[in-house]
Amino acid sequence: MFNISPFLLGLVCDDCGRVFTPGPALLTCPSCGGLLDAGYDLEAIRKSLDLNVLLRRKADVWRWKEFLPLADEADMVRIGSGGSPLIACRQLADWVGVRELWVKYEGMQPTASLKDRSFAVAVSTAKLLGVRQAITYSSGNAAISLAAHASHAGMAGLILVNAWADAAKLGVLNQFAWPIVKIDWTDFAEVESLLSRAVEELGLYSFVNFQNPWRHEAYQTYAFENWLDLGHRTPDHEIHPIGTGGGIFGSWKGWKALRSIGLVSRLPRMHGTQPAVAAAVATAFDAGRSAATPEGNPRDTIAEAIANNIPLGQGRRPLKVAYDSGGTIQAIPEPAIMPALYKLAEEGICAEPAGSTTVAAAKQMAERGIISSQDTVVCTVTASGYKQPYAAAPRPMPVIRPAIGELKKIMERYDQ
Ligand SMILES: [Zn+2]
Repeated sequence: MFNISPFLLGLVCDDCGRVFTPGPALLTCPSCGGLLDAGYDLEAIRKSLDLNVLLRRKADVWRWKEFLPLADEADMVRIGSGGSPLIACRQLADWVGVRELWVKYEGMQPTASLKDRSFAVAVSTAKLLGVRQAITYSSGNAAISLAAHASHAGMAGLILVNAWADAAKLGVLNQFAWPIVKIDWTDFAEVESLLSRAVEELGLYSFVNFQNPWRHEAYQTYAFENWLDLGHRTPDHEIHPIGTGGGIFGSWKGWKALRSIGLVSRLPRMHGTQPAVAAAVATAFDAGRSAATPEGNPRDTIAEAIANNIPLGQGRRPLKVAYDSGGTIQAIPEPAIMPALYKLAEEGICAEPAGSTTVAAAKQMAERGIISSQDTVVCTVTASGYKQPYAAAPRPMPVIRPAIGELKKIMERYDQ
């Protein structure tokens, strides 16, 4: 047996409720195929947690180790993941029409996306379980993050990416000595099936969010960090982009844990965003359904990091969070995505298009009366603009000789 956290009770199946002991081959429920989620003895955590001790620790994901699967610091992969800034945005608050708008900026992570938070914990746990060979599918961000964390841990693996993945992301992947295979797919169910067979027939350990029971664990730290950085307050609304829904699902789990240990009495309303051209989860939410059905073409949106026609698990987890928290799932029209990105740039925040959908969603929800002018809103910007650097429309950049006369002519043009 490995050196598991003393607070970890086991992996609990979403569907049949059975509890399993973690192991190197355990991904989804062996009994019914349902998704697994780590359960903790929150009462024991409540009794033993000393906030002053916690605050003296390094401010990465492991600061919150009591709520994570590992106990021994020697087992923790640590390349700086977690602890991203929560940025107060006065201009965005005015634009949206709310009292406070904060951006949780994940562009500051080691490989510049939220996935680092997730893989720090998932890779550490897998390594302790004895996993040697990894596989993941990704639009690009998760692939880079897995390669970084697993390489640090000395784990080998294979990466599957979308055939149309952004050239910037593929370029960064070239830095890692991992095999990369591009997958040309039309229905995400085909990718799910391929991954399942790779696990069964090639003995690879899947790091795909939700199929892997540890990937969403670290997203609990969104709740912990936001609570801390807001001065021990709960925001009225927390907004997350939904690819598979790991961020919104994990953060909601974190907020509920904070309530269980008595640090908050109130929970935020949790909202998810999807591009309207591929918004299976938003459609299911509007219809009051608990599971999504395939819809749209993921290649039609600029928000490529969250583009799919149906998320793994049919979107059941993000849907449940939206219903349980009194939140919503917002479909963001394509023409609203880049204006939100430019608004973030006015605040000095360099976002990838998928991340800017949360700000577009805040604006949309304020206009629809879901968010009120007195509310405090946290928008999760999930990755840096360097992830998709050519998303912004090109602008004229005149070339001149280094002569003041030429520069004056240019300035006259701008003054008009
Ligand atoms: Zn089950």
